[in-house]
Amino acid sequence: MSANSASPILIWFRKDLRLGDNHALAAACADGVPVIPFYIREPADSGNGPLGSAQRWWLHHSLSALRTSLQNIGSDLLFRSGEPLEVIKDIARETGGTSVFWNRRYDPSGMATDAPLKKALLEQGFSVSSFAGQLLHEPTRFFNKTGGPYRVFTPFWRALEASGEPQAPIDPPVSIAAPQRWPGSERLEQWDLLPTKPDWASTFSEIWSPGEDGASNRLQTFVEDTLDGYKTARDLPAEAGTSLLSPHLAFGEISPARIWHATRVLTDTPVDDVVTFRKELAWREFSYNLLFHNPDLDRRNLDRRFDAFSWLDNDDHFRRWTKGLTGYPIVDAGMRQLWRHGYMHNRVRMIAASFLIKDLLIDWRRGERWFRDTLVDADPASNAASWQWVAGSGADASPFFRVFNPALQGEKFDPEGHYVKQFVPELADLDARYVHRPFAAPQAALSEARIELGVTYPAPIIEHGFARDRALAAFQDIRSAT
Ligand SMILES: Cc1cc2nc3c(=O)[nH]c(=O)nc-3n(C[C@H](O)[C@H](O)[C@H](O)COP(=O)(O)OP(=O)(O)OC[C@H]3O[C@@H](n4cnc5c(N)ncnc54)[C@H](O)[C@@H]3O)c2cc1C
Repeated sequence: MSANSASPILIWFRKDLRLGDNHALAAACADGVPVIPFYIREPADSGNGPLGSAQRWWLHHSLSALRTSLQNIGSDLLFRSGEPLEVIKDIARETGGTSVFWNRRYDPSGMATDAPLKKALLEQGFSVSSFAGQLLHEPTRFFNKTGGPYRVFTPFWRALEASGEPQAPIDPPVSIAAPQRWPGSERLEQWDLLPTKPDWASTFSEIWSPGEDGASNRLQTFVEDTLDGYKTARDLPAEAGTSLLSPHLAFGEISPARIWHATRVLTDTPVDDVVTFRKELAWREFSYNLLFHNPDLDRRNLDRRFDAFSWLDNDDHFRRWTKGLTGYPIVDAGMRQLWRHGYMHNRVRMIAASFLIKDLLIDWRRGERWFRDTLVDADPASNAASWQWVAGSGADASPFFRVFNPALQGEKFDPEGHYVKQFVPELADLDARYVHRPFAAPQAALSEARIELGVTYPAPIIEHGFARDRALAAFQDIRSAT
């Protein structure tokens, strides 16, 4: 489309790095006036940064993909750094734009930036239009019978299900009007988002393709090949049984509405699989509802009894947990999957988190921060809510006295040990009968697999039976104190 001299609309991309089902973008393009898309690297102390290390890698590639997609339809993406108000005023001065569009974000730091920003822009004569799209439904949509926010998932899910289908996704624009002259942009490459020395993210691209196309391909593969059977396979970490859409959702490369609707048109997929999958999308919504109503979800126990909990916080144990050297193969495989792919299977996240909190008695907040730094799908709502759920301190939480036995969990969900062997190669030759408890394997089996416990693979850092009793006693202490 040719350049146009009308006053342009400025569109600020944030957690919506996509063209499809992007309501702010569609509205900005509706009148055919020039549109100026930009991304702001907000100051690290604004609360919106710094991003975790793994997500910095993702962000680089996602922004690069978005820029290419915009260029393909006649537009571009500007990169600027600074306080959003100053950046927007600069771009406005340079282009004559007085209208600013964005899609709403619902994390506390994003909202803390956006509300005063909107006010300041309005006061300075701008018009500001904000749109929904990060969630299926606004976090103010569902309330329980007494008018309060839901704290239990099942009634929340029932309310969500009864509310009908979320809005159908809208198509991406086919072209975007360009301004007569593009204002200057920083170079993405100079933002140093990619690790270099060492390039620890080099293995991420074994499984990930950041960007909207990567998200669309993932959705298509999931719907065609994986959704049928999801209910069972989603718990088996050795199988390709889940969608792997979480990092794409975290960066808004795909909308949850589009995912929801893609599972709607299926006629030959068992209903149970579709419902189970949609329930997972609803857990994401539920987590955002919790975060919206509890902005300190990543810091404060929802169940205040846990404020008195006596955490041990042994630094050496924490370090060995982060490195996948606990001596419990399923935990170690998960923690090493996290290093290798910036991702961990959901079942294994539960086991690894439970091990940190209950076997090692390390404060769930340390685990939450580690995941935030290392997951490509780190999400302020799902991460904090899930850690509190595992700890037992959260809303609708798994009770603290339910302590996962890592060896039994491994045997149940990775019976052949394929997942463990993929990420813990030291155990690759161990007989499947012992792969989840090498500490109990006969010496002959260890020798045959060239394993020397404590040398080639660690002996357990703690005995699970002892740790379980200790955790239950610590929990009893806070129960009897209240
Ligand atoms: C300790 C812990 C920390 C977690 N941290 C995060 C996080 O930072 N970011 C994140 O997106 N998920 C987190 N989860 C939830 C879950 O593990 C991931 O969403 C899931 O593994 C992503 O893989 P997938 O996209 O293949 O999931 P699928 O099974 O294909 O599910 C589809 C989508 O539903 C959502 N979803 C699934 N399970 C959950 C859940 N339990 N809670 C909230 N949303 C869910 C995700 O958006 C996911 O992409 C955490 C879980 C635990 C136990």
